[in-house]
Amino acid sequence: MKKIFLVTALIAGIKVFSQTPSQKFEFVNFSQVNITDNFWKPKIDKVATVTMKACIYQTEINTPRIRNFEKVARNKGEKFEGIYYDDSDVYKALEAMAYALKTHPDPILEAKADEWIDKVAAAQLPDGYLDTYFTLRDINQRWTNIEAHEDYNAGHLIEAAVAYYSVTGKRKLLDVAIRLANHIDSTFRLGNKKWFSGHEEIELALVKLYGVTKDDRYLKLADWYLQQRGKGGIYTYDKKWFTPAYWQDLKPVKDQTEITGHAVRAMYLYTGAADVAALDGDNGYMNAMQKVWEDVVYRNMYITGGIGSAGDNEGFTKDYDLPNEDAYCETCASVGMVLWNQRMCKLTGDSKYIDVLERSLYNGALDGLSLSGDHFFYDNVLASNGQHQRREWFGTACCPANIARLVTSVGNYIYGRSDDGIWVNLFVGSNTHIKVANTDVAIKMETNYPWDGKVKINIDPKDKKTFSVRIRVPDWQKGSIVPGDLYKNASASHAVLSFFVNGKVVSFREENGYAIINRKWQAGDVISFEYNMPIIEIAARPDVKADIDRVALQRGPLVYCVEGADNKGQVWNLVLPSNTSFTTVDYKILDEPVIALQTELPSAKANENGDQIKIENRKVTAIPYYCWANRGANDMQVWLPTKIKEVKINYSSKYEDGGNY
Ligand SMILES: [Zn+2]
Repeated sequence: MKKIFLVTALIAGIKVFSQTPSQKFEFVNFSQVNITDNFWKPKIDKVATVTMKACIYQTEINTPRIRNFEKVARNKGEKFEGIYYDDSDVYKALEAMAYALKTHPDPILEAKADEWIDKVAAAQLPDGYLDTYFTLRDINQRWTNIEAHEDYNAGHLIEAAVAYYSVTGKRKLLDVAIRLANHIDSTFRLGNKKWFSGHEEIELALVKLYGVTKDDRYLKLADWYLQQRGKGGIYTYDKKWFTPAYWQDLKPVKDQTEITGHAVRAMYLYTGAADVAALDGDNGYMNAMQKVWEDVVYRNMYITGGIGSAGDNEGFTKDYDLPNEDAYCETCASVGMVLWNQRMCKLTGDSKYIDVLERSLYNGALDGLSLSGDHFFYDNVLASNGQHQRREWFGTACCPANIARLVTSVGNYIYGRSDDGIWVNLFVGSNTHIKVANTDVAIKMETNYPWDGKVKINIDPKDKKTFSVRIRVPDWQKGSIVPGDLYKNASASHAVLSFFVNGKVVSFREENGYAIINRKWQAGDVISFEYNMPIIEIAARPDVKADIDRVALQRGPLVYCVEGADNKGQVWNLVLPSNTSFTTVDYKILDEPVIALQTELPSAKANENGDQIKIENRKVTAIPYYCWANRGANDMQVWLPTKIKEVKINYSSKYEDGGNY
């Protein structure tokens, strides 16, 4: 089959994509991973039930998103309602529904998805075009404005279609996606029409479509989209922030070295570029992305793994501009960091990308979802004066379904396989089967991560075989915090690592951030190890003005914050002297069991006349950042001042008694 394809492709003069994928390993798909732990399992359950219910209600009942599709099908001249990218929310919810159906088979949810799919299919035009905004308003205006998100909507449709087909085997939405992709391919790549995606997304989606159909037309179209950037002259600047930098269009993708513009668009672009690079022998995308990645992680990433500090362009500004109270850090951008870093890791086999992925996942992204599962953050600030609250929905509602699809598919990021062995990237209680060394290996991981670093992994090969097991050693375990020097561990120490097999210490070698145990494995083998989880005090490099003379706290992969709800309403008048020692305590935020950090800290307040500052010690509790804002409007800080001059007395506007503690 492959040979036939190769010959046909050569005859046709088509660029032949490498038959040998240039990736170091492949991730095990979430559908093959059964998550069993006490951290992610309840969240996956909640998303499959509560969050999906909220998404369906908001998409179908409370907003006109589904109604727009019905109007197209009725063809009675009814008006489009909403915003031009609203179709994408339907598709993203469908994708999340597909993932939820995999982990929680539910005939009612599946019937709802089928009903939506029928409505989507009925809105497709005979030539394959599908976008309710232009179909209802003026079909002659389609494909005239790169900012109109037609390719973005199409990308999310394709992703939903691939997900739904993969989970249910039903082709209806996939066939819709194929017709639309063919329409786009004929219009632009084959039709030689000048164009590029204003909001990237379709690139990575087309690679997924190629993965399911094996039709390399879609891979070529993805590459075509990537190659259109950096040519200029396609758009007009009708809004002040619409610039080549905003659209990652300053240079061709392979020449790019800096992160610019809209954060979510950038993440989707580079994820798509990495996907193409994984299948294409050309290293051009990879070389560029490594430089861009360093620009993100070394100079433009929050300690939470969030990115994109500014609201007006929803994106990047200048290096080290990382304000806390005004941080934008869109949930979707953190989701994008997870997607992009996963691809970078499989292309390089370097665990530093998973270090960043884990940071964005457990902090910047997870913060976007309330503990109840039905409230969301769009922007994820690192300090609040009580003005930031989770909401049920948004006019621009990209984030809720995005965090839903990420949580339901978190199994995508745990295990990997290569010809020589098994990769363990994240530590999540789960089980799976991986084929390696010509045998089936049953794997079971048990851990209470992220609350403690004890991990036990059963390796059960059907036949006795020699292969490697690579176990990621997180950056915080090695005395650093992030790749580069944007943040440093104020009390760095490289822990001595020990790995055991069947209770006995085993030798291993470290490579690219993984501990590699190579041996002849047999049924019943058990790997065990324990990563230390000290409470780490983090300092930012002085270029980050917002964090000068401030410290953040991290334990394991979790960044901590202090919130008013645990601290009598006041968190802006605290001082955190360096080398403060904390104790860890079992704690609950609503029904979420967590490990909290407690200590006594100096707290500043004005005297009765308001002319002198008094310092008193008081008990302070810090909680995982992802848990904040679940108990009403609250003050919050991630970066606490180390000096009294940085405190704000009576800053809290929410609490009349603020400053009295
Ligand atoms: Zn969003």
